[in-house]
Amino acid sequence: MSFDFSLSPRVEDWRDRIRQFIDDTVIPREQSAFTDGIDDDLRRTLQKAARDADIWAPQAASELGGGGFRFDEAAVLLEEAGRSLFGPLALNCAAPDEGNIHLLTVVGTEGQKEKYLRPLVAGDIRSSFAMTEPPPGAGSDPSALRTIARRVDGGWAISGDKHLITGADGAAVVIVMARDADSGKATMLLVDADNPGYRVTGHARTIDATMVGGHCQIRFDDAFVTTDAVLGEPGEGFRYAQVRLAPARLTHCMRWLGAARRAHEIAVRRCVERELFGHRLTEHGMAQQMIADNEIDLAAARSLLWHTSWLLSEGDKGTEASSRAKVFISEAVGRIVDRAVQLCGGMGTSDDLVVGRIYADIRAFRIYDGASEVHRMSIAKRVARRYE
Ligand SMILES: Cc1cc2nc3c(=O)[nH]c(=O)nc-3n(C[C@H](O)[C@H](O)[C@H](O)COP(=O)(O)OP(=O)(O)OC[C@H]3O[C@@H](n4cnc5c(N)ncnc54)[C@H](O)[C@@H]3O)c2cc1C
Repeated sequence: MSFDFSLSPRVEDWRDRIRQFIDDTVIPREQSAFTDGIDDDLRRTLQKAARDADIWAPQAASELGGGGFRFDEAAVLLEEAGRSLFGPLALNCAAPDEGNIHLLTVVGTEGQKEKYLRPLVAGDIRSSFAMTEPPPGAGSDPSALRTIARRVDGGWAISGDKHLITGADGAAVVIVMARDADSGKATMLLVDADNPGYRVTGHARTIDATMVGGHCQIRFDDAFVTTDAVLGEPGEGFRYAQVRLAPARLTHCMRWLGAARRAHEIAVRRCVERELFGHRLTEHGMAQQMIADNEIDLAAARSLLWHTSWLLSEGDKGTEASSRAKVFISEAVGRIVDRAVQLCGGMGTSDDLVVGRIYADIRAFRIYDGASEVHRMSIAKRVARRYE
């Protein structure tokens, strides 16, 4: 048995070039994007630059035009991309497309791969993933699913409301989780944005501000889709959700770790320069504690992430491991960015210093892809079963 944390020359090469690209090409555009908002024009501009820099979609299969990296290698590269809130979008490894690319790769039919996966990996289209519903529908408890798919002549008719659906506005396709009206089982279906029975009905005004298309309310009103719109097999929706969610929550960890590292870097640079009460801030004990705690949280989060990503690369489903990692890392990155804000003083709360923007954007990560409480509940249940 050997523990080997060394990186291959190819991973090191991509990591260094991604770092350079984020510093030289993405970070200089951040302030105008914070002011003007992020749209598909900016997405296309950044994505063309990333493609030209040959750092395109590190996590996607190489036969589709991606980097073809293993999942544990992607952990290094997506952290690097995450140093800017727009980095993952530029490299086409941002949520929700990155998770949908993975799902379609694993369970999509050949036809679905041709129609949706190829253009998604190429960055020609965007997608969204629609699971959450307004109360009393599916949220933390997916079994409350209320959106219905009825079998009709030649296909299915979908009805129901979803909310908080990231990127739905402007997405070409939405992967919707619905309940088969006959069997009661959850089924995933692909619905094109121009389907006459489908529409985006509004946007939630959330505290984050850097996702293209925002977080949308959407409605299916007897939306008819043909039989081949079922993703994989009917009735397998919850199983496919697991296929998507374990890796997707880890790729979120990767990107947010990069964002937290950036906030910490900004804070430390400021502390080195800032003189207060006759000393630099880095010489004050209470500031030192925050700086040290950030380093400890960063290192612990990265170690857990690398180990869990390695498990997935080795074929483990990683259900419990990814829950553990998601809880620890989502809370650790929150602590890191919160300390960074504190160390930066008043300007730490602003977009100008970027730390404030990261602080607002990172908060929801403790809620989506399973709230901390839900993961803790499922970890505790599994542990209890082992002792029964
Ligand atoms: C920025 C953002 C982007 C999102 N993007 C998407 C998307 O693209 N697609 C999508 O389908 N959904 C998306 N969501 C929705 C997200 O998945 C849900 O918000 C999440 O699953 C929680 O569901 P809920 O909001 O209905 O909260 P509820 O289910 O009402 O839960 C509320 C709170 O209850 C607590 N809780 C839950 N279970 C327990 C328990 N067992 N014990 C103790 N406390 C508990 C938790 O603290 C939880 O936050 C997004 C959300 C946000 C904030």
